[in-house]
Amino acid sequence: MTSTRSVDQADIAALRRAVRGAVHRRTDPGYATVGFNVAVTAHPWAVVDVLDAADVGAVMGFASANDMTVSVWATGHGATGVDGRSILVRTTALDVCEIDPAAHTARIGAGVRWQQVLDAAAPLGLAPLCGSAPHVGVAGFLSGGGIGPLVRTVGASSDHVRSITVVTGGGVLKHTTPESNPELFWGLRGGKATLGIIVEVVVDLLPIAEIYGGAIYFDGADADAVAHRWRDWAVGLPREVSTSLALLRLPEMPGIPEPLAGRLSVAVRVAAAGDLAAAAGLVAPIRALGEPLLDGLGPMPYAQIGLIHADPTAPMPVTERGALLRELPDAAISALLAAAGPASSSPLTVVELRMLGGAFADEPRVRSALCHRRAAANLHTVGVLVPPIAEAVIAAAAHTVEAMTPWATGGELPNFAATADAARIRRCYDEDTYAWLSALAAQHDPHGVLDVGQVVR
Ligand SMILES: Cc1cc2nc3c(=O)[nH]c(=O)nc-3n(C[C@H](O)[C@H](O)[C@H](O)COP(=O)(O)OP(=O)(O)OC[C@H]3O[C@@H](n4cnc5c(N)ncnc54)[C@H](O)[C@@H]3O)c2cc1C
Repeated sequence: MTSTRSVDQADIAALRRAVRGAVHRRTDPGYATVGFNVAVTAHPWAVVDVLDAADVGAVMGFASANDMTVSVWATGHGATGVDGRSILVRTTALDVCEIDPAAHTARIGAGVRWQQVLDAAAPLGLAPLCGSAPHVGVAGFLSGGGIGPLVRTVGASSDHVRSITVVTGGGVLKHTTPESNPELFWGLRGGKATLGIIVEVVVDLLPIAEIYGGAIYFDGADADAVAHRWRDWAVGLPREVSTSLALLRLPEMPGIPEPLAGRLSVAVRVAAAGDLAAAAGLVAPIRALGEPLLDGLGPMPYAQIGLIHADPTAPMPVTERGALLRELPDAAISALLAAAGPASSSPLTVVELRMLGGAFADEPRVRSALCHRRAAANLHTVGVLVPPIAEAVIAAAAHTVEAMTPWATGGELPNFAATADAARIRRCYDEDTYAWLSALAAQHDPHGVLDVGQVVR
């Protein structure tokens, strides 16, 4: 459909007639557009609570006819800004979550969070490959490739997707697998919402009932020794063990354990599957890094995987920056500590180095648009934007990323770069992938309906 009207002429009654789900304008109570990151502003022309793929297709058609764009949110955990030219598709009602215990798969609607899949699958001894925070949405996570606490053992979570049902920007419903619409199946895993809005996915569940893992926290005063020795240990690990190190400046507030509140601490996070006794042996040197403030390492049910990172669940205003690192020599640890360690005045709440490698670096069985698989580690910073330190937080994030430039690949992972900034989106892809995604977007979103937010064009 070619655009015949402008947003000023768009007729809300026509949109309401076109969809089964509720349509909310600014003054309606259902027009709730605050995501997890409350610093992101969203003022869409309308919010549509889609009920099915036909609703998504109708929104695409309406937007195309009225020269508008379409944004998509499930939980708002990776939201980018939405302006008054855009219709926000909210997928919360796409809530199917069916486990097939024999096939070891789950059929999951685009509105479902990982926690719901964990709750359904874990009692059967089956593990969905979620990220660090199970309250994140499944579709949004997988659209950015998705790396979880077991990344070095299982690789990217999006490599464990069997099929994706999508409505393209052109409004066409497509079922995609490695064999059927393979180019879309490739681009939907890593390309975020560049090509379409995912309606449903089928993912593999791995037979993992228990892991060895958790987090051990040390005093920030010991950060130098802990971080350097963690590096020495982490770079030699087999793929059975995944780990990250985080410098944490957690506030004093309900939910933050007393030994960690209002001070700098260092968390060493670990997740290992397979031979748990062997994992315990491999992880033993971590306990010798120093006197811990808290020790939460041990065997744990997979269902509790969210405890490893213990990410916050309450919305807050944050700024996130990051960089992929090609190697992690000792000098990189020294540079990170100088920028964000105990001797710095860094106000950043989280500065995390997550080790990649292992299965993440393997050539995937079915290729996808997720790039930069040869990176050794992912740097991720989170700062809370509260006055009067908001500007200092933004400056500290930039300073920390800059300090790691000598070891940076120049790339980022899409899920750690929620942004509409074209240069930053560009960094998420290698040249060929970017060109292919752009070409596919021209084919599957001919009117640029999805040309908004974190997409490739
Ligand atoms: C506390 C926290 C921890 C995190 N931990 C990890 C982690 O360990 N590993 C990791 O890889 N990522 C992690 N992330 C990033 C997260 O995976 C992304 O922000 C993801 O986009 C969130 O998806 P959502 O649906 O919950 O968020 P939303 O804000 O609802 O969606 C974010 C974006 O995802 C895309 N998207 C959402 N739904 C659809 C759809 N139906 N079709 C197509 N595209 C869609 C769109 O680009 C959308 O703008 C974390 C984020 C947070 C806030």
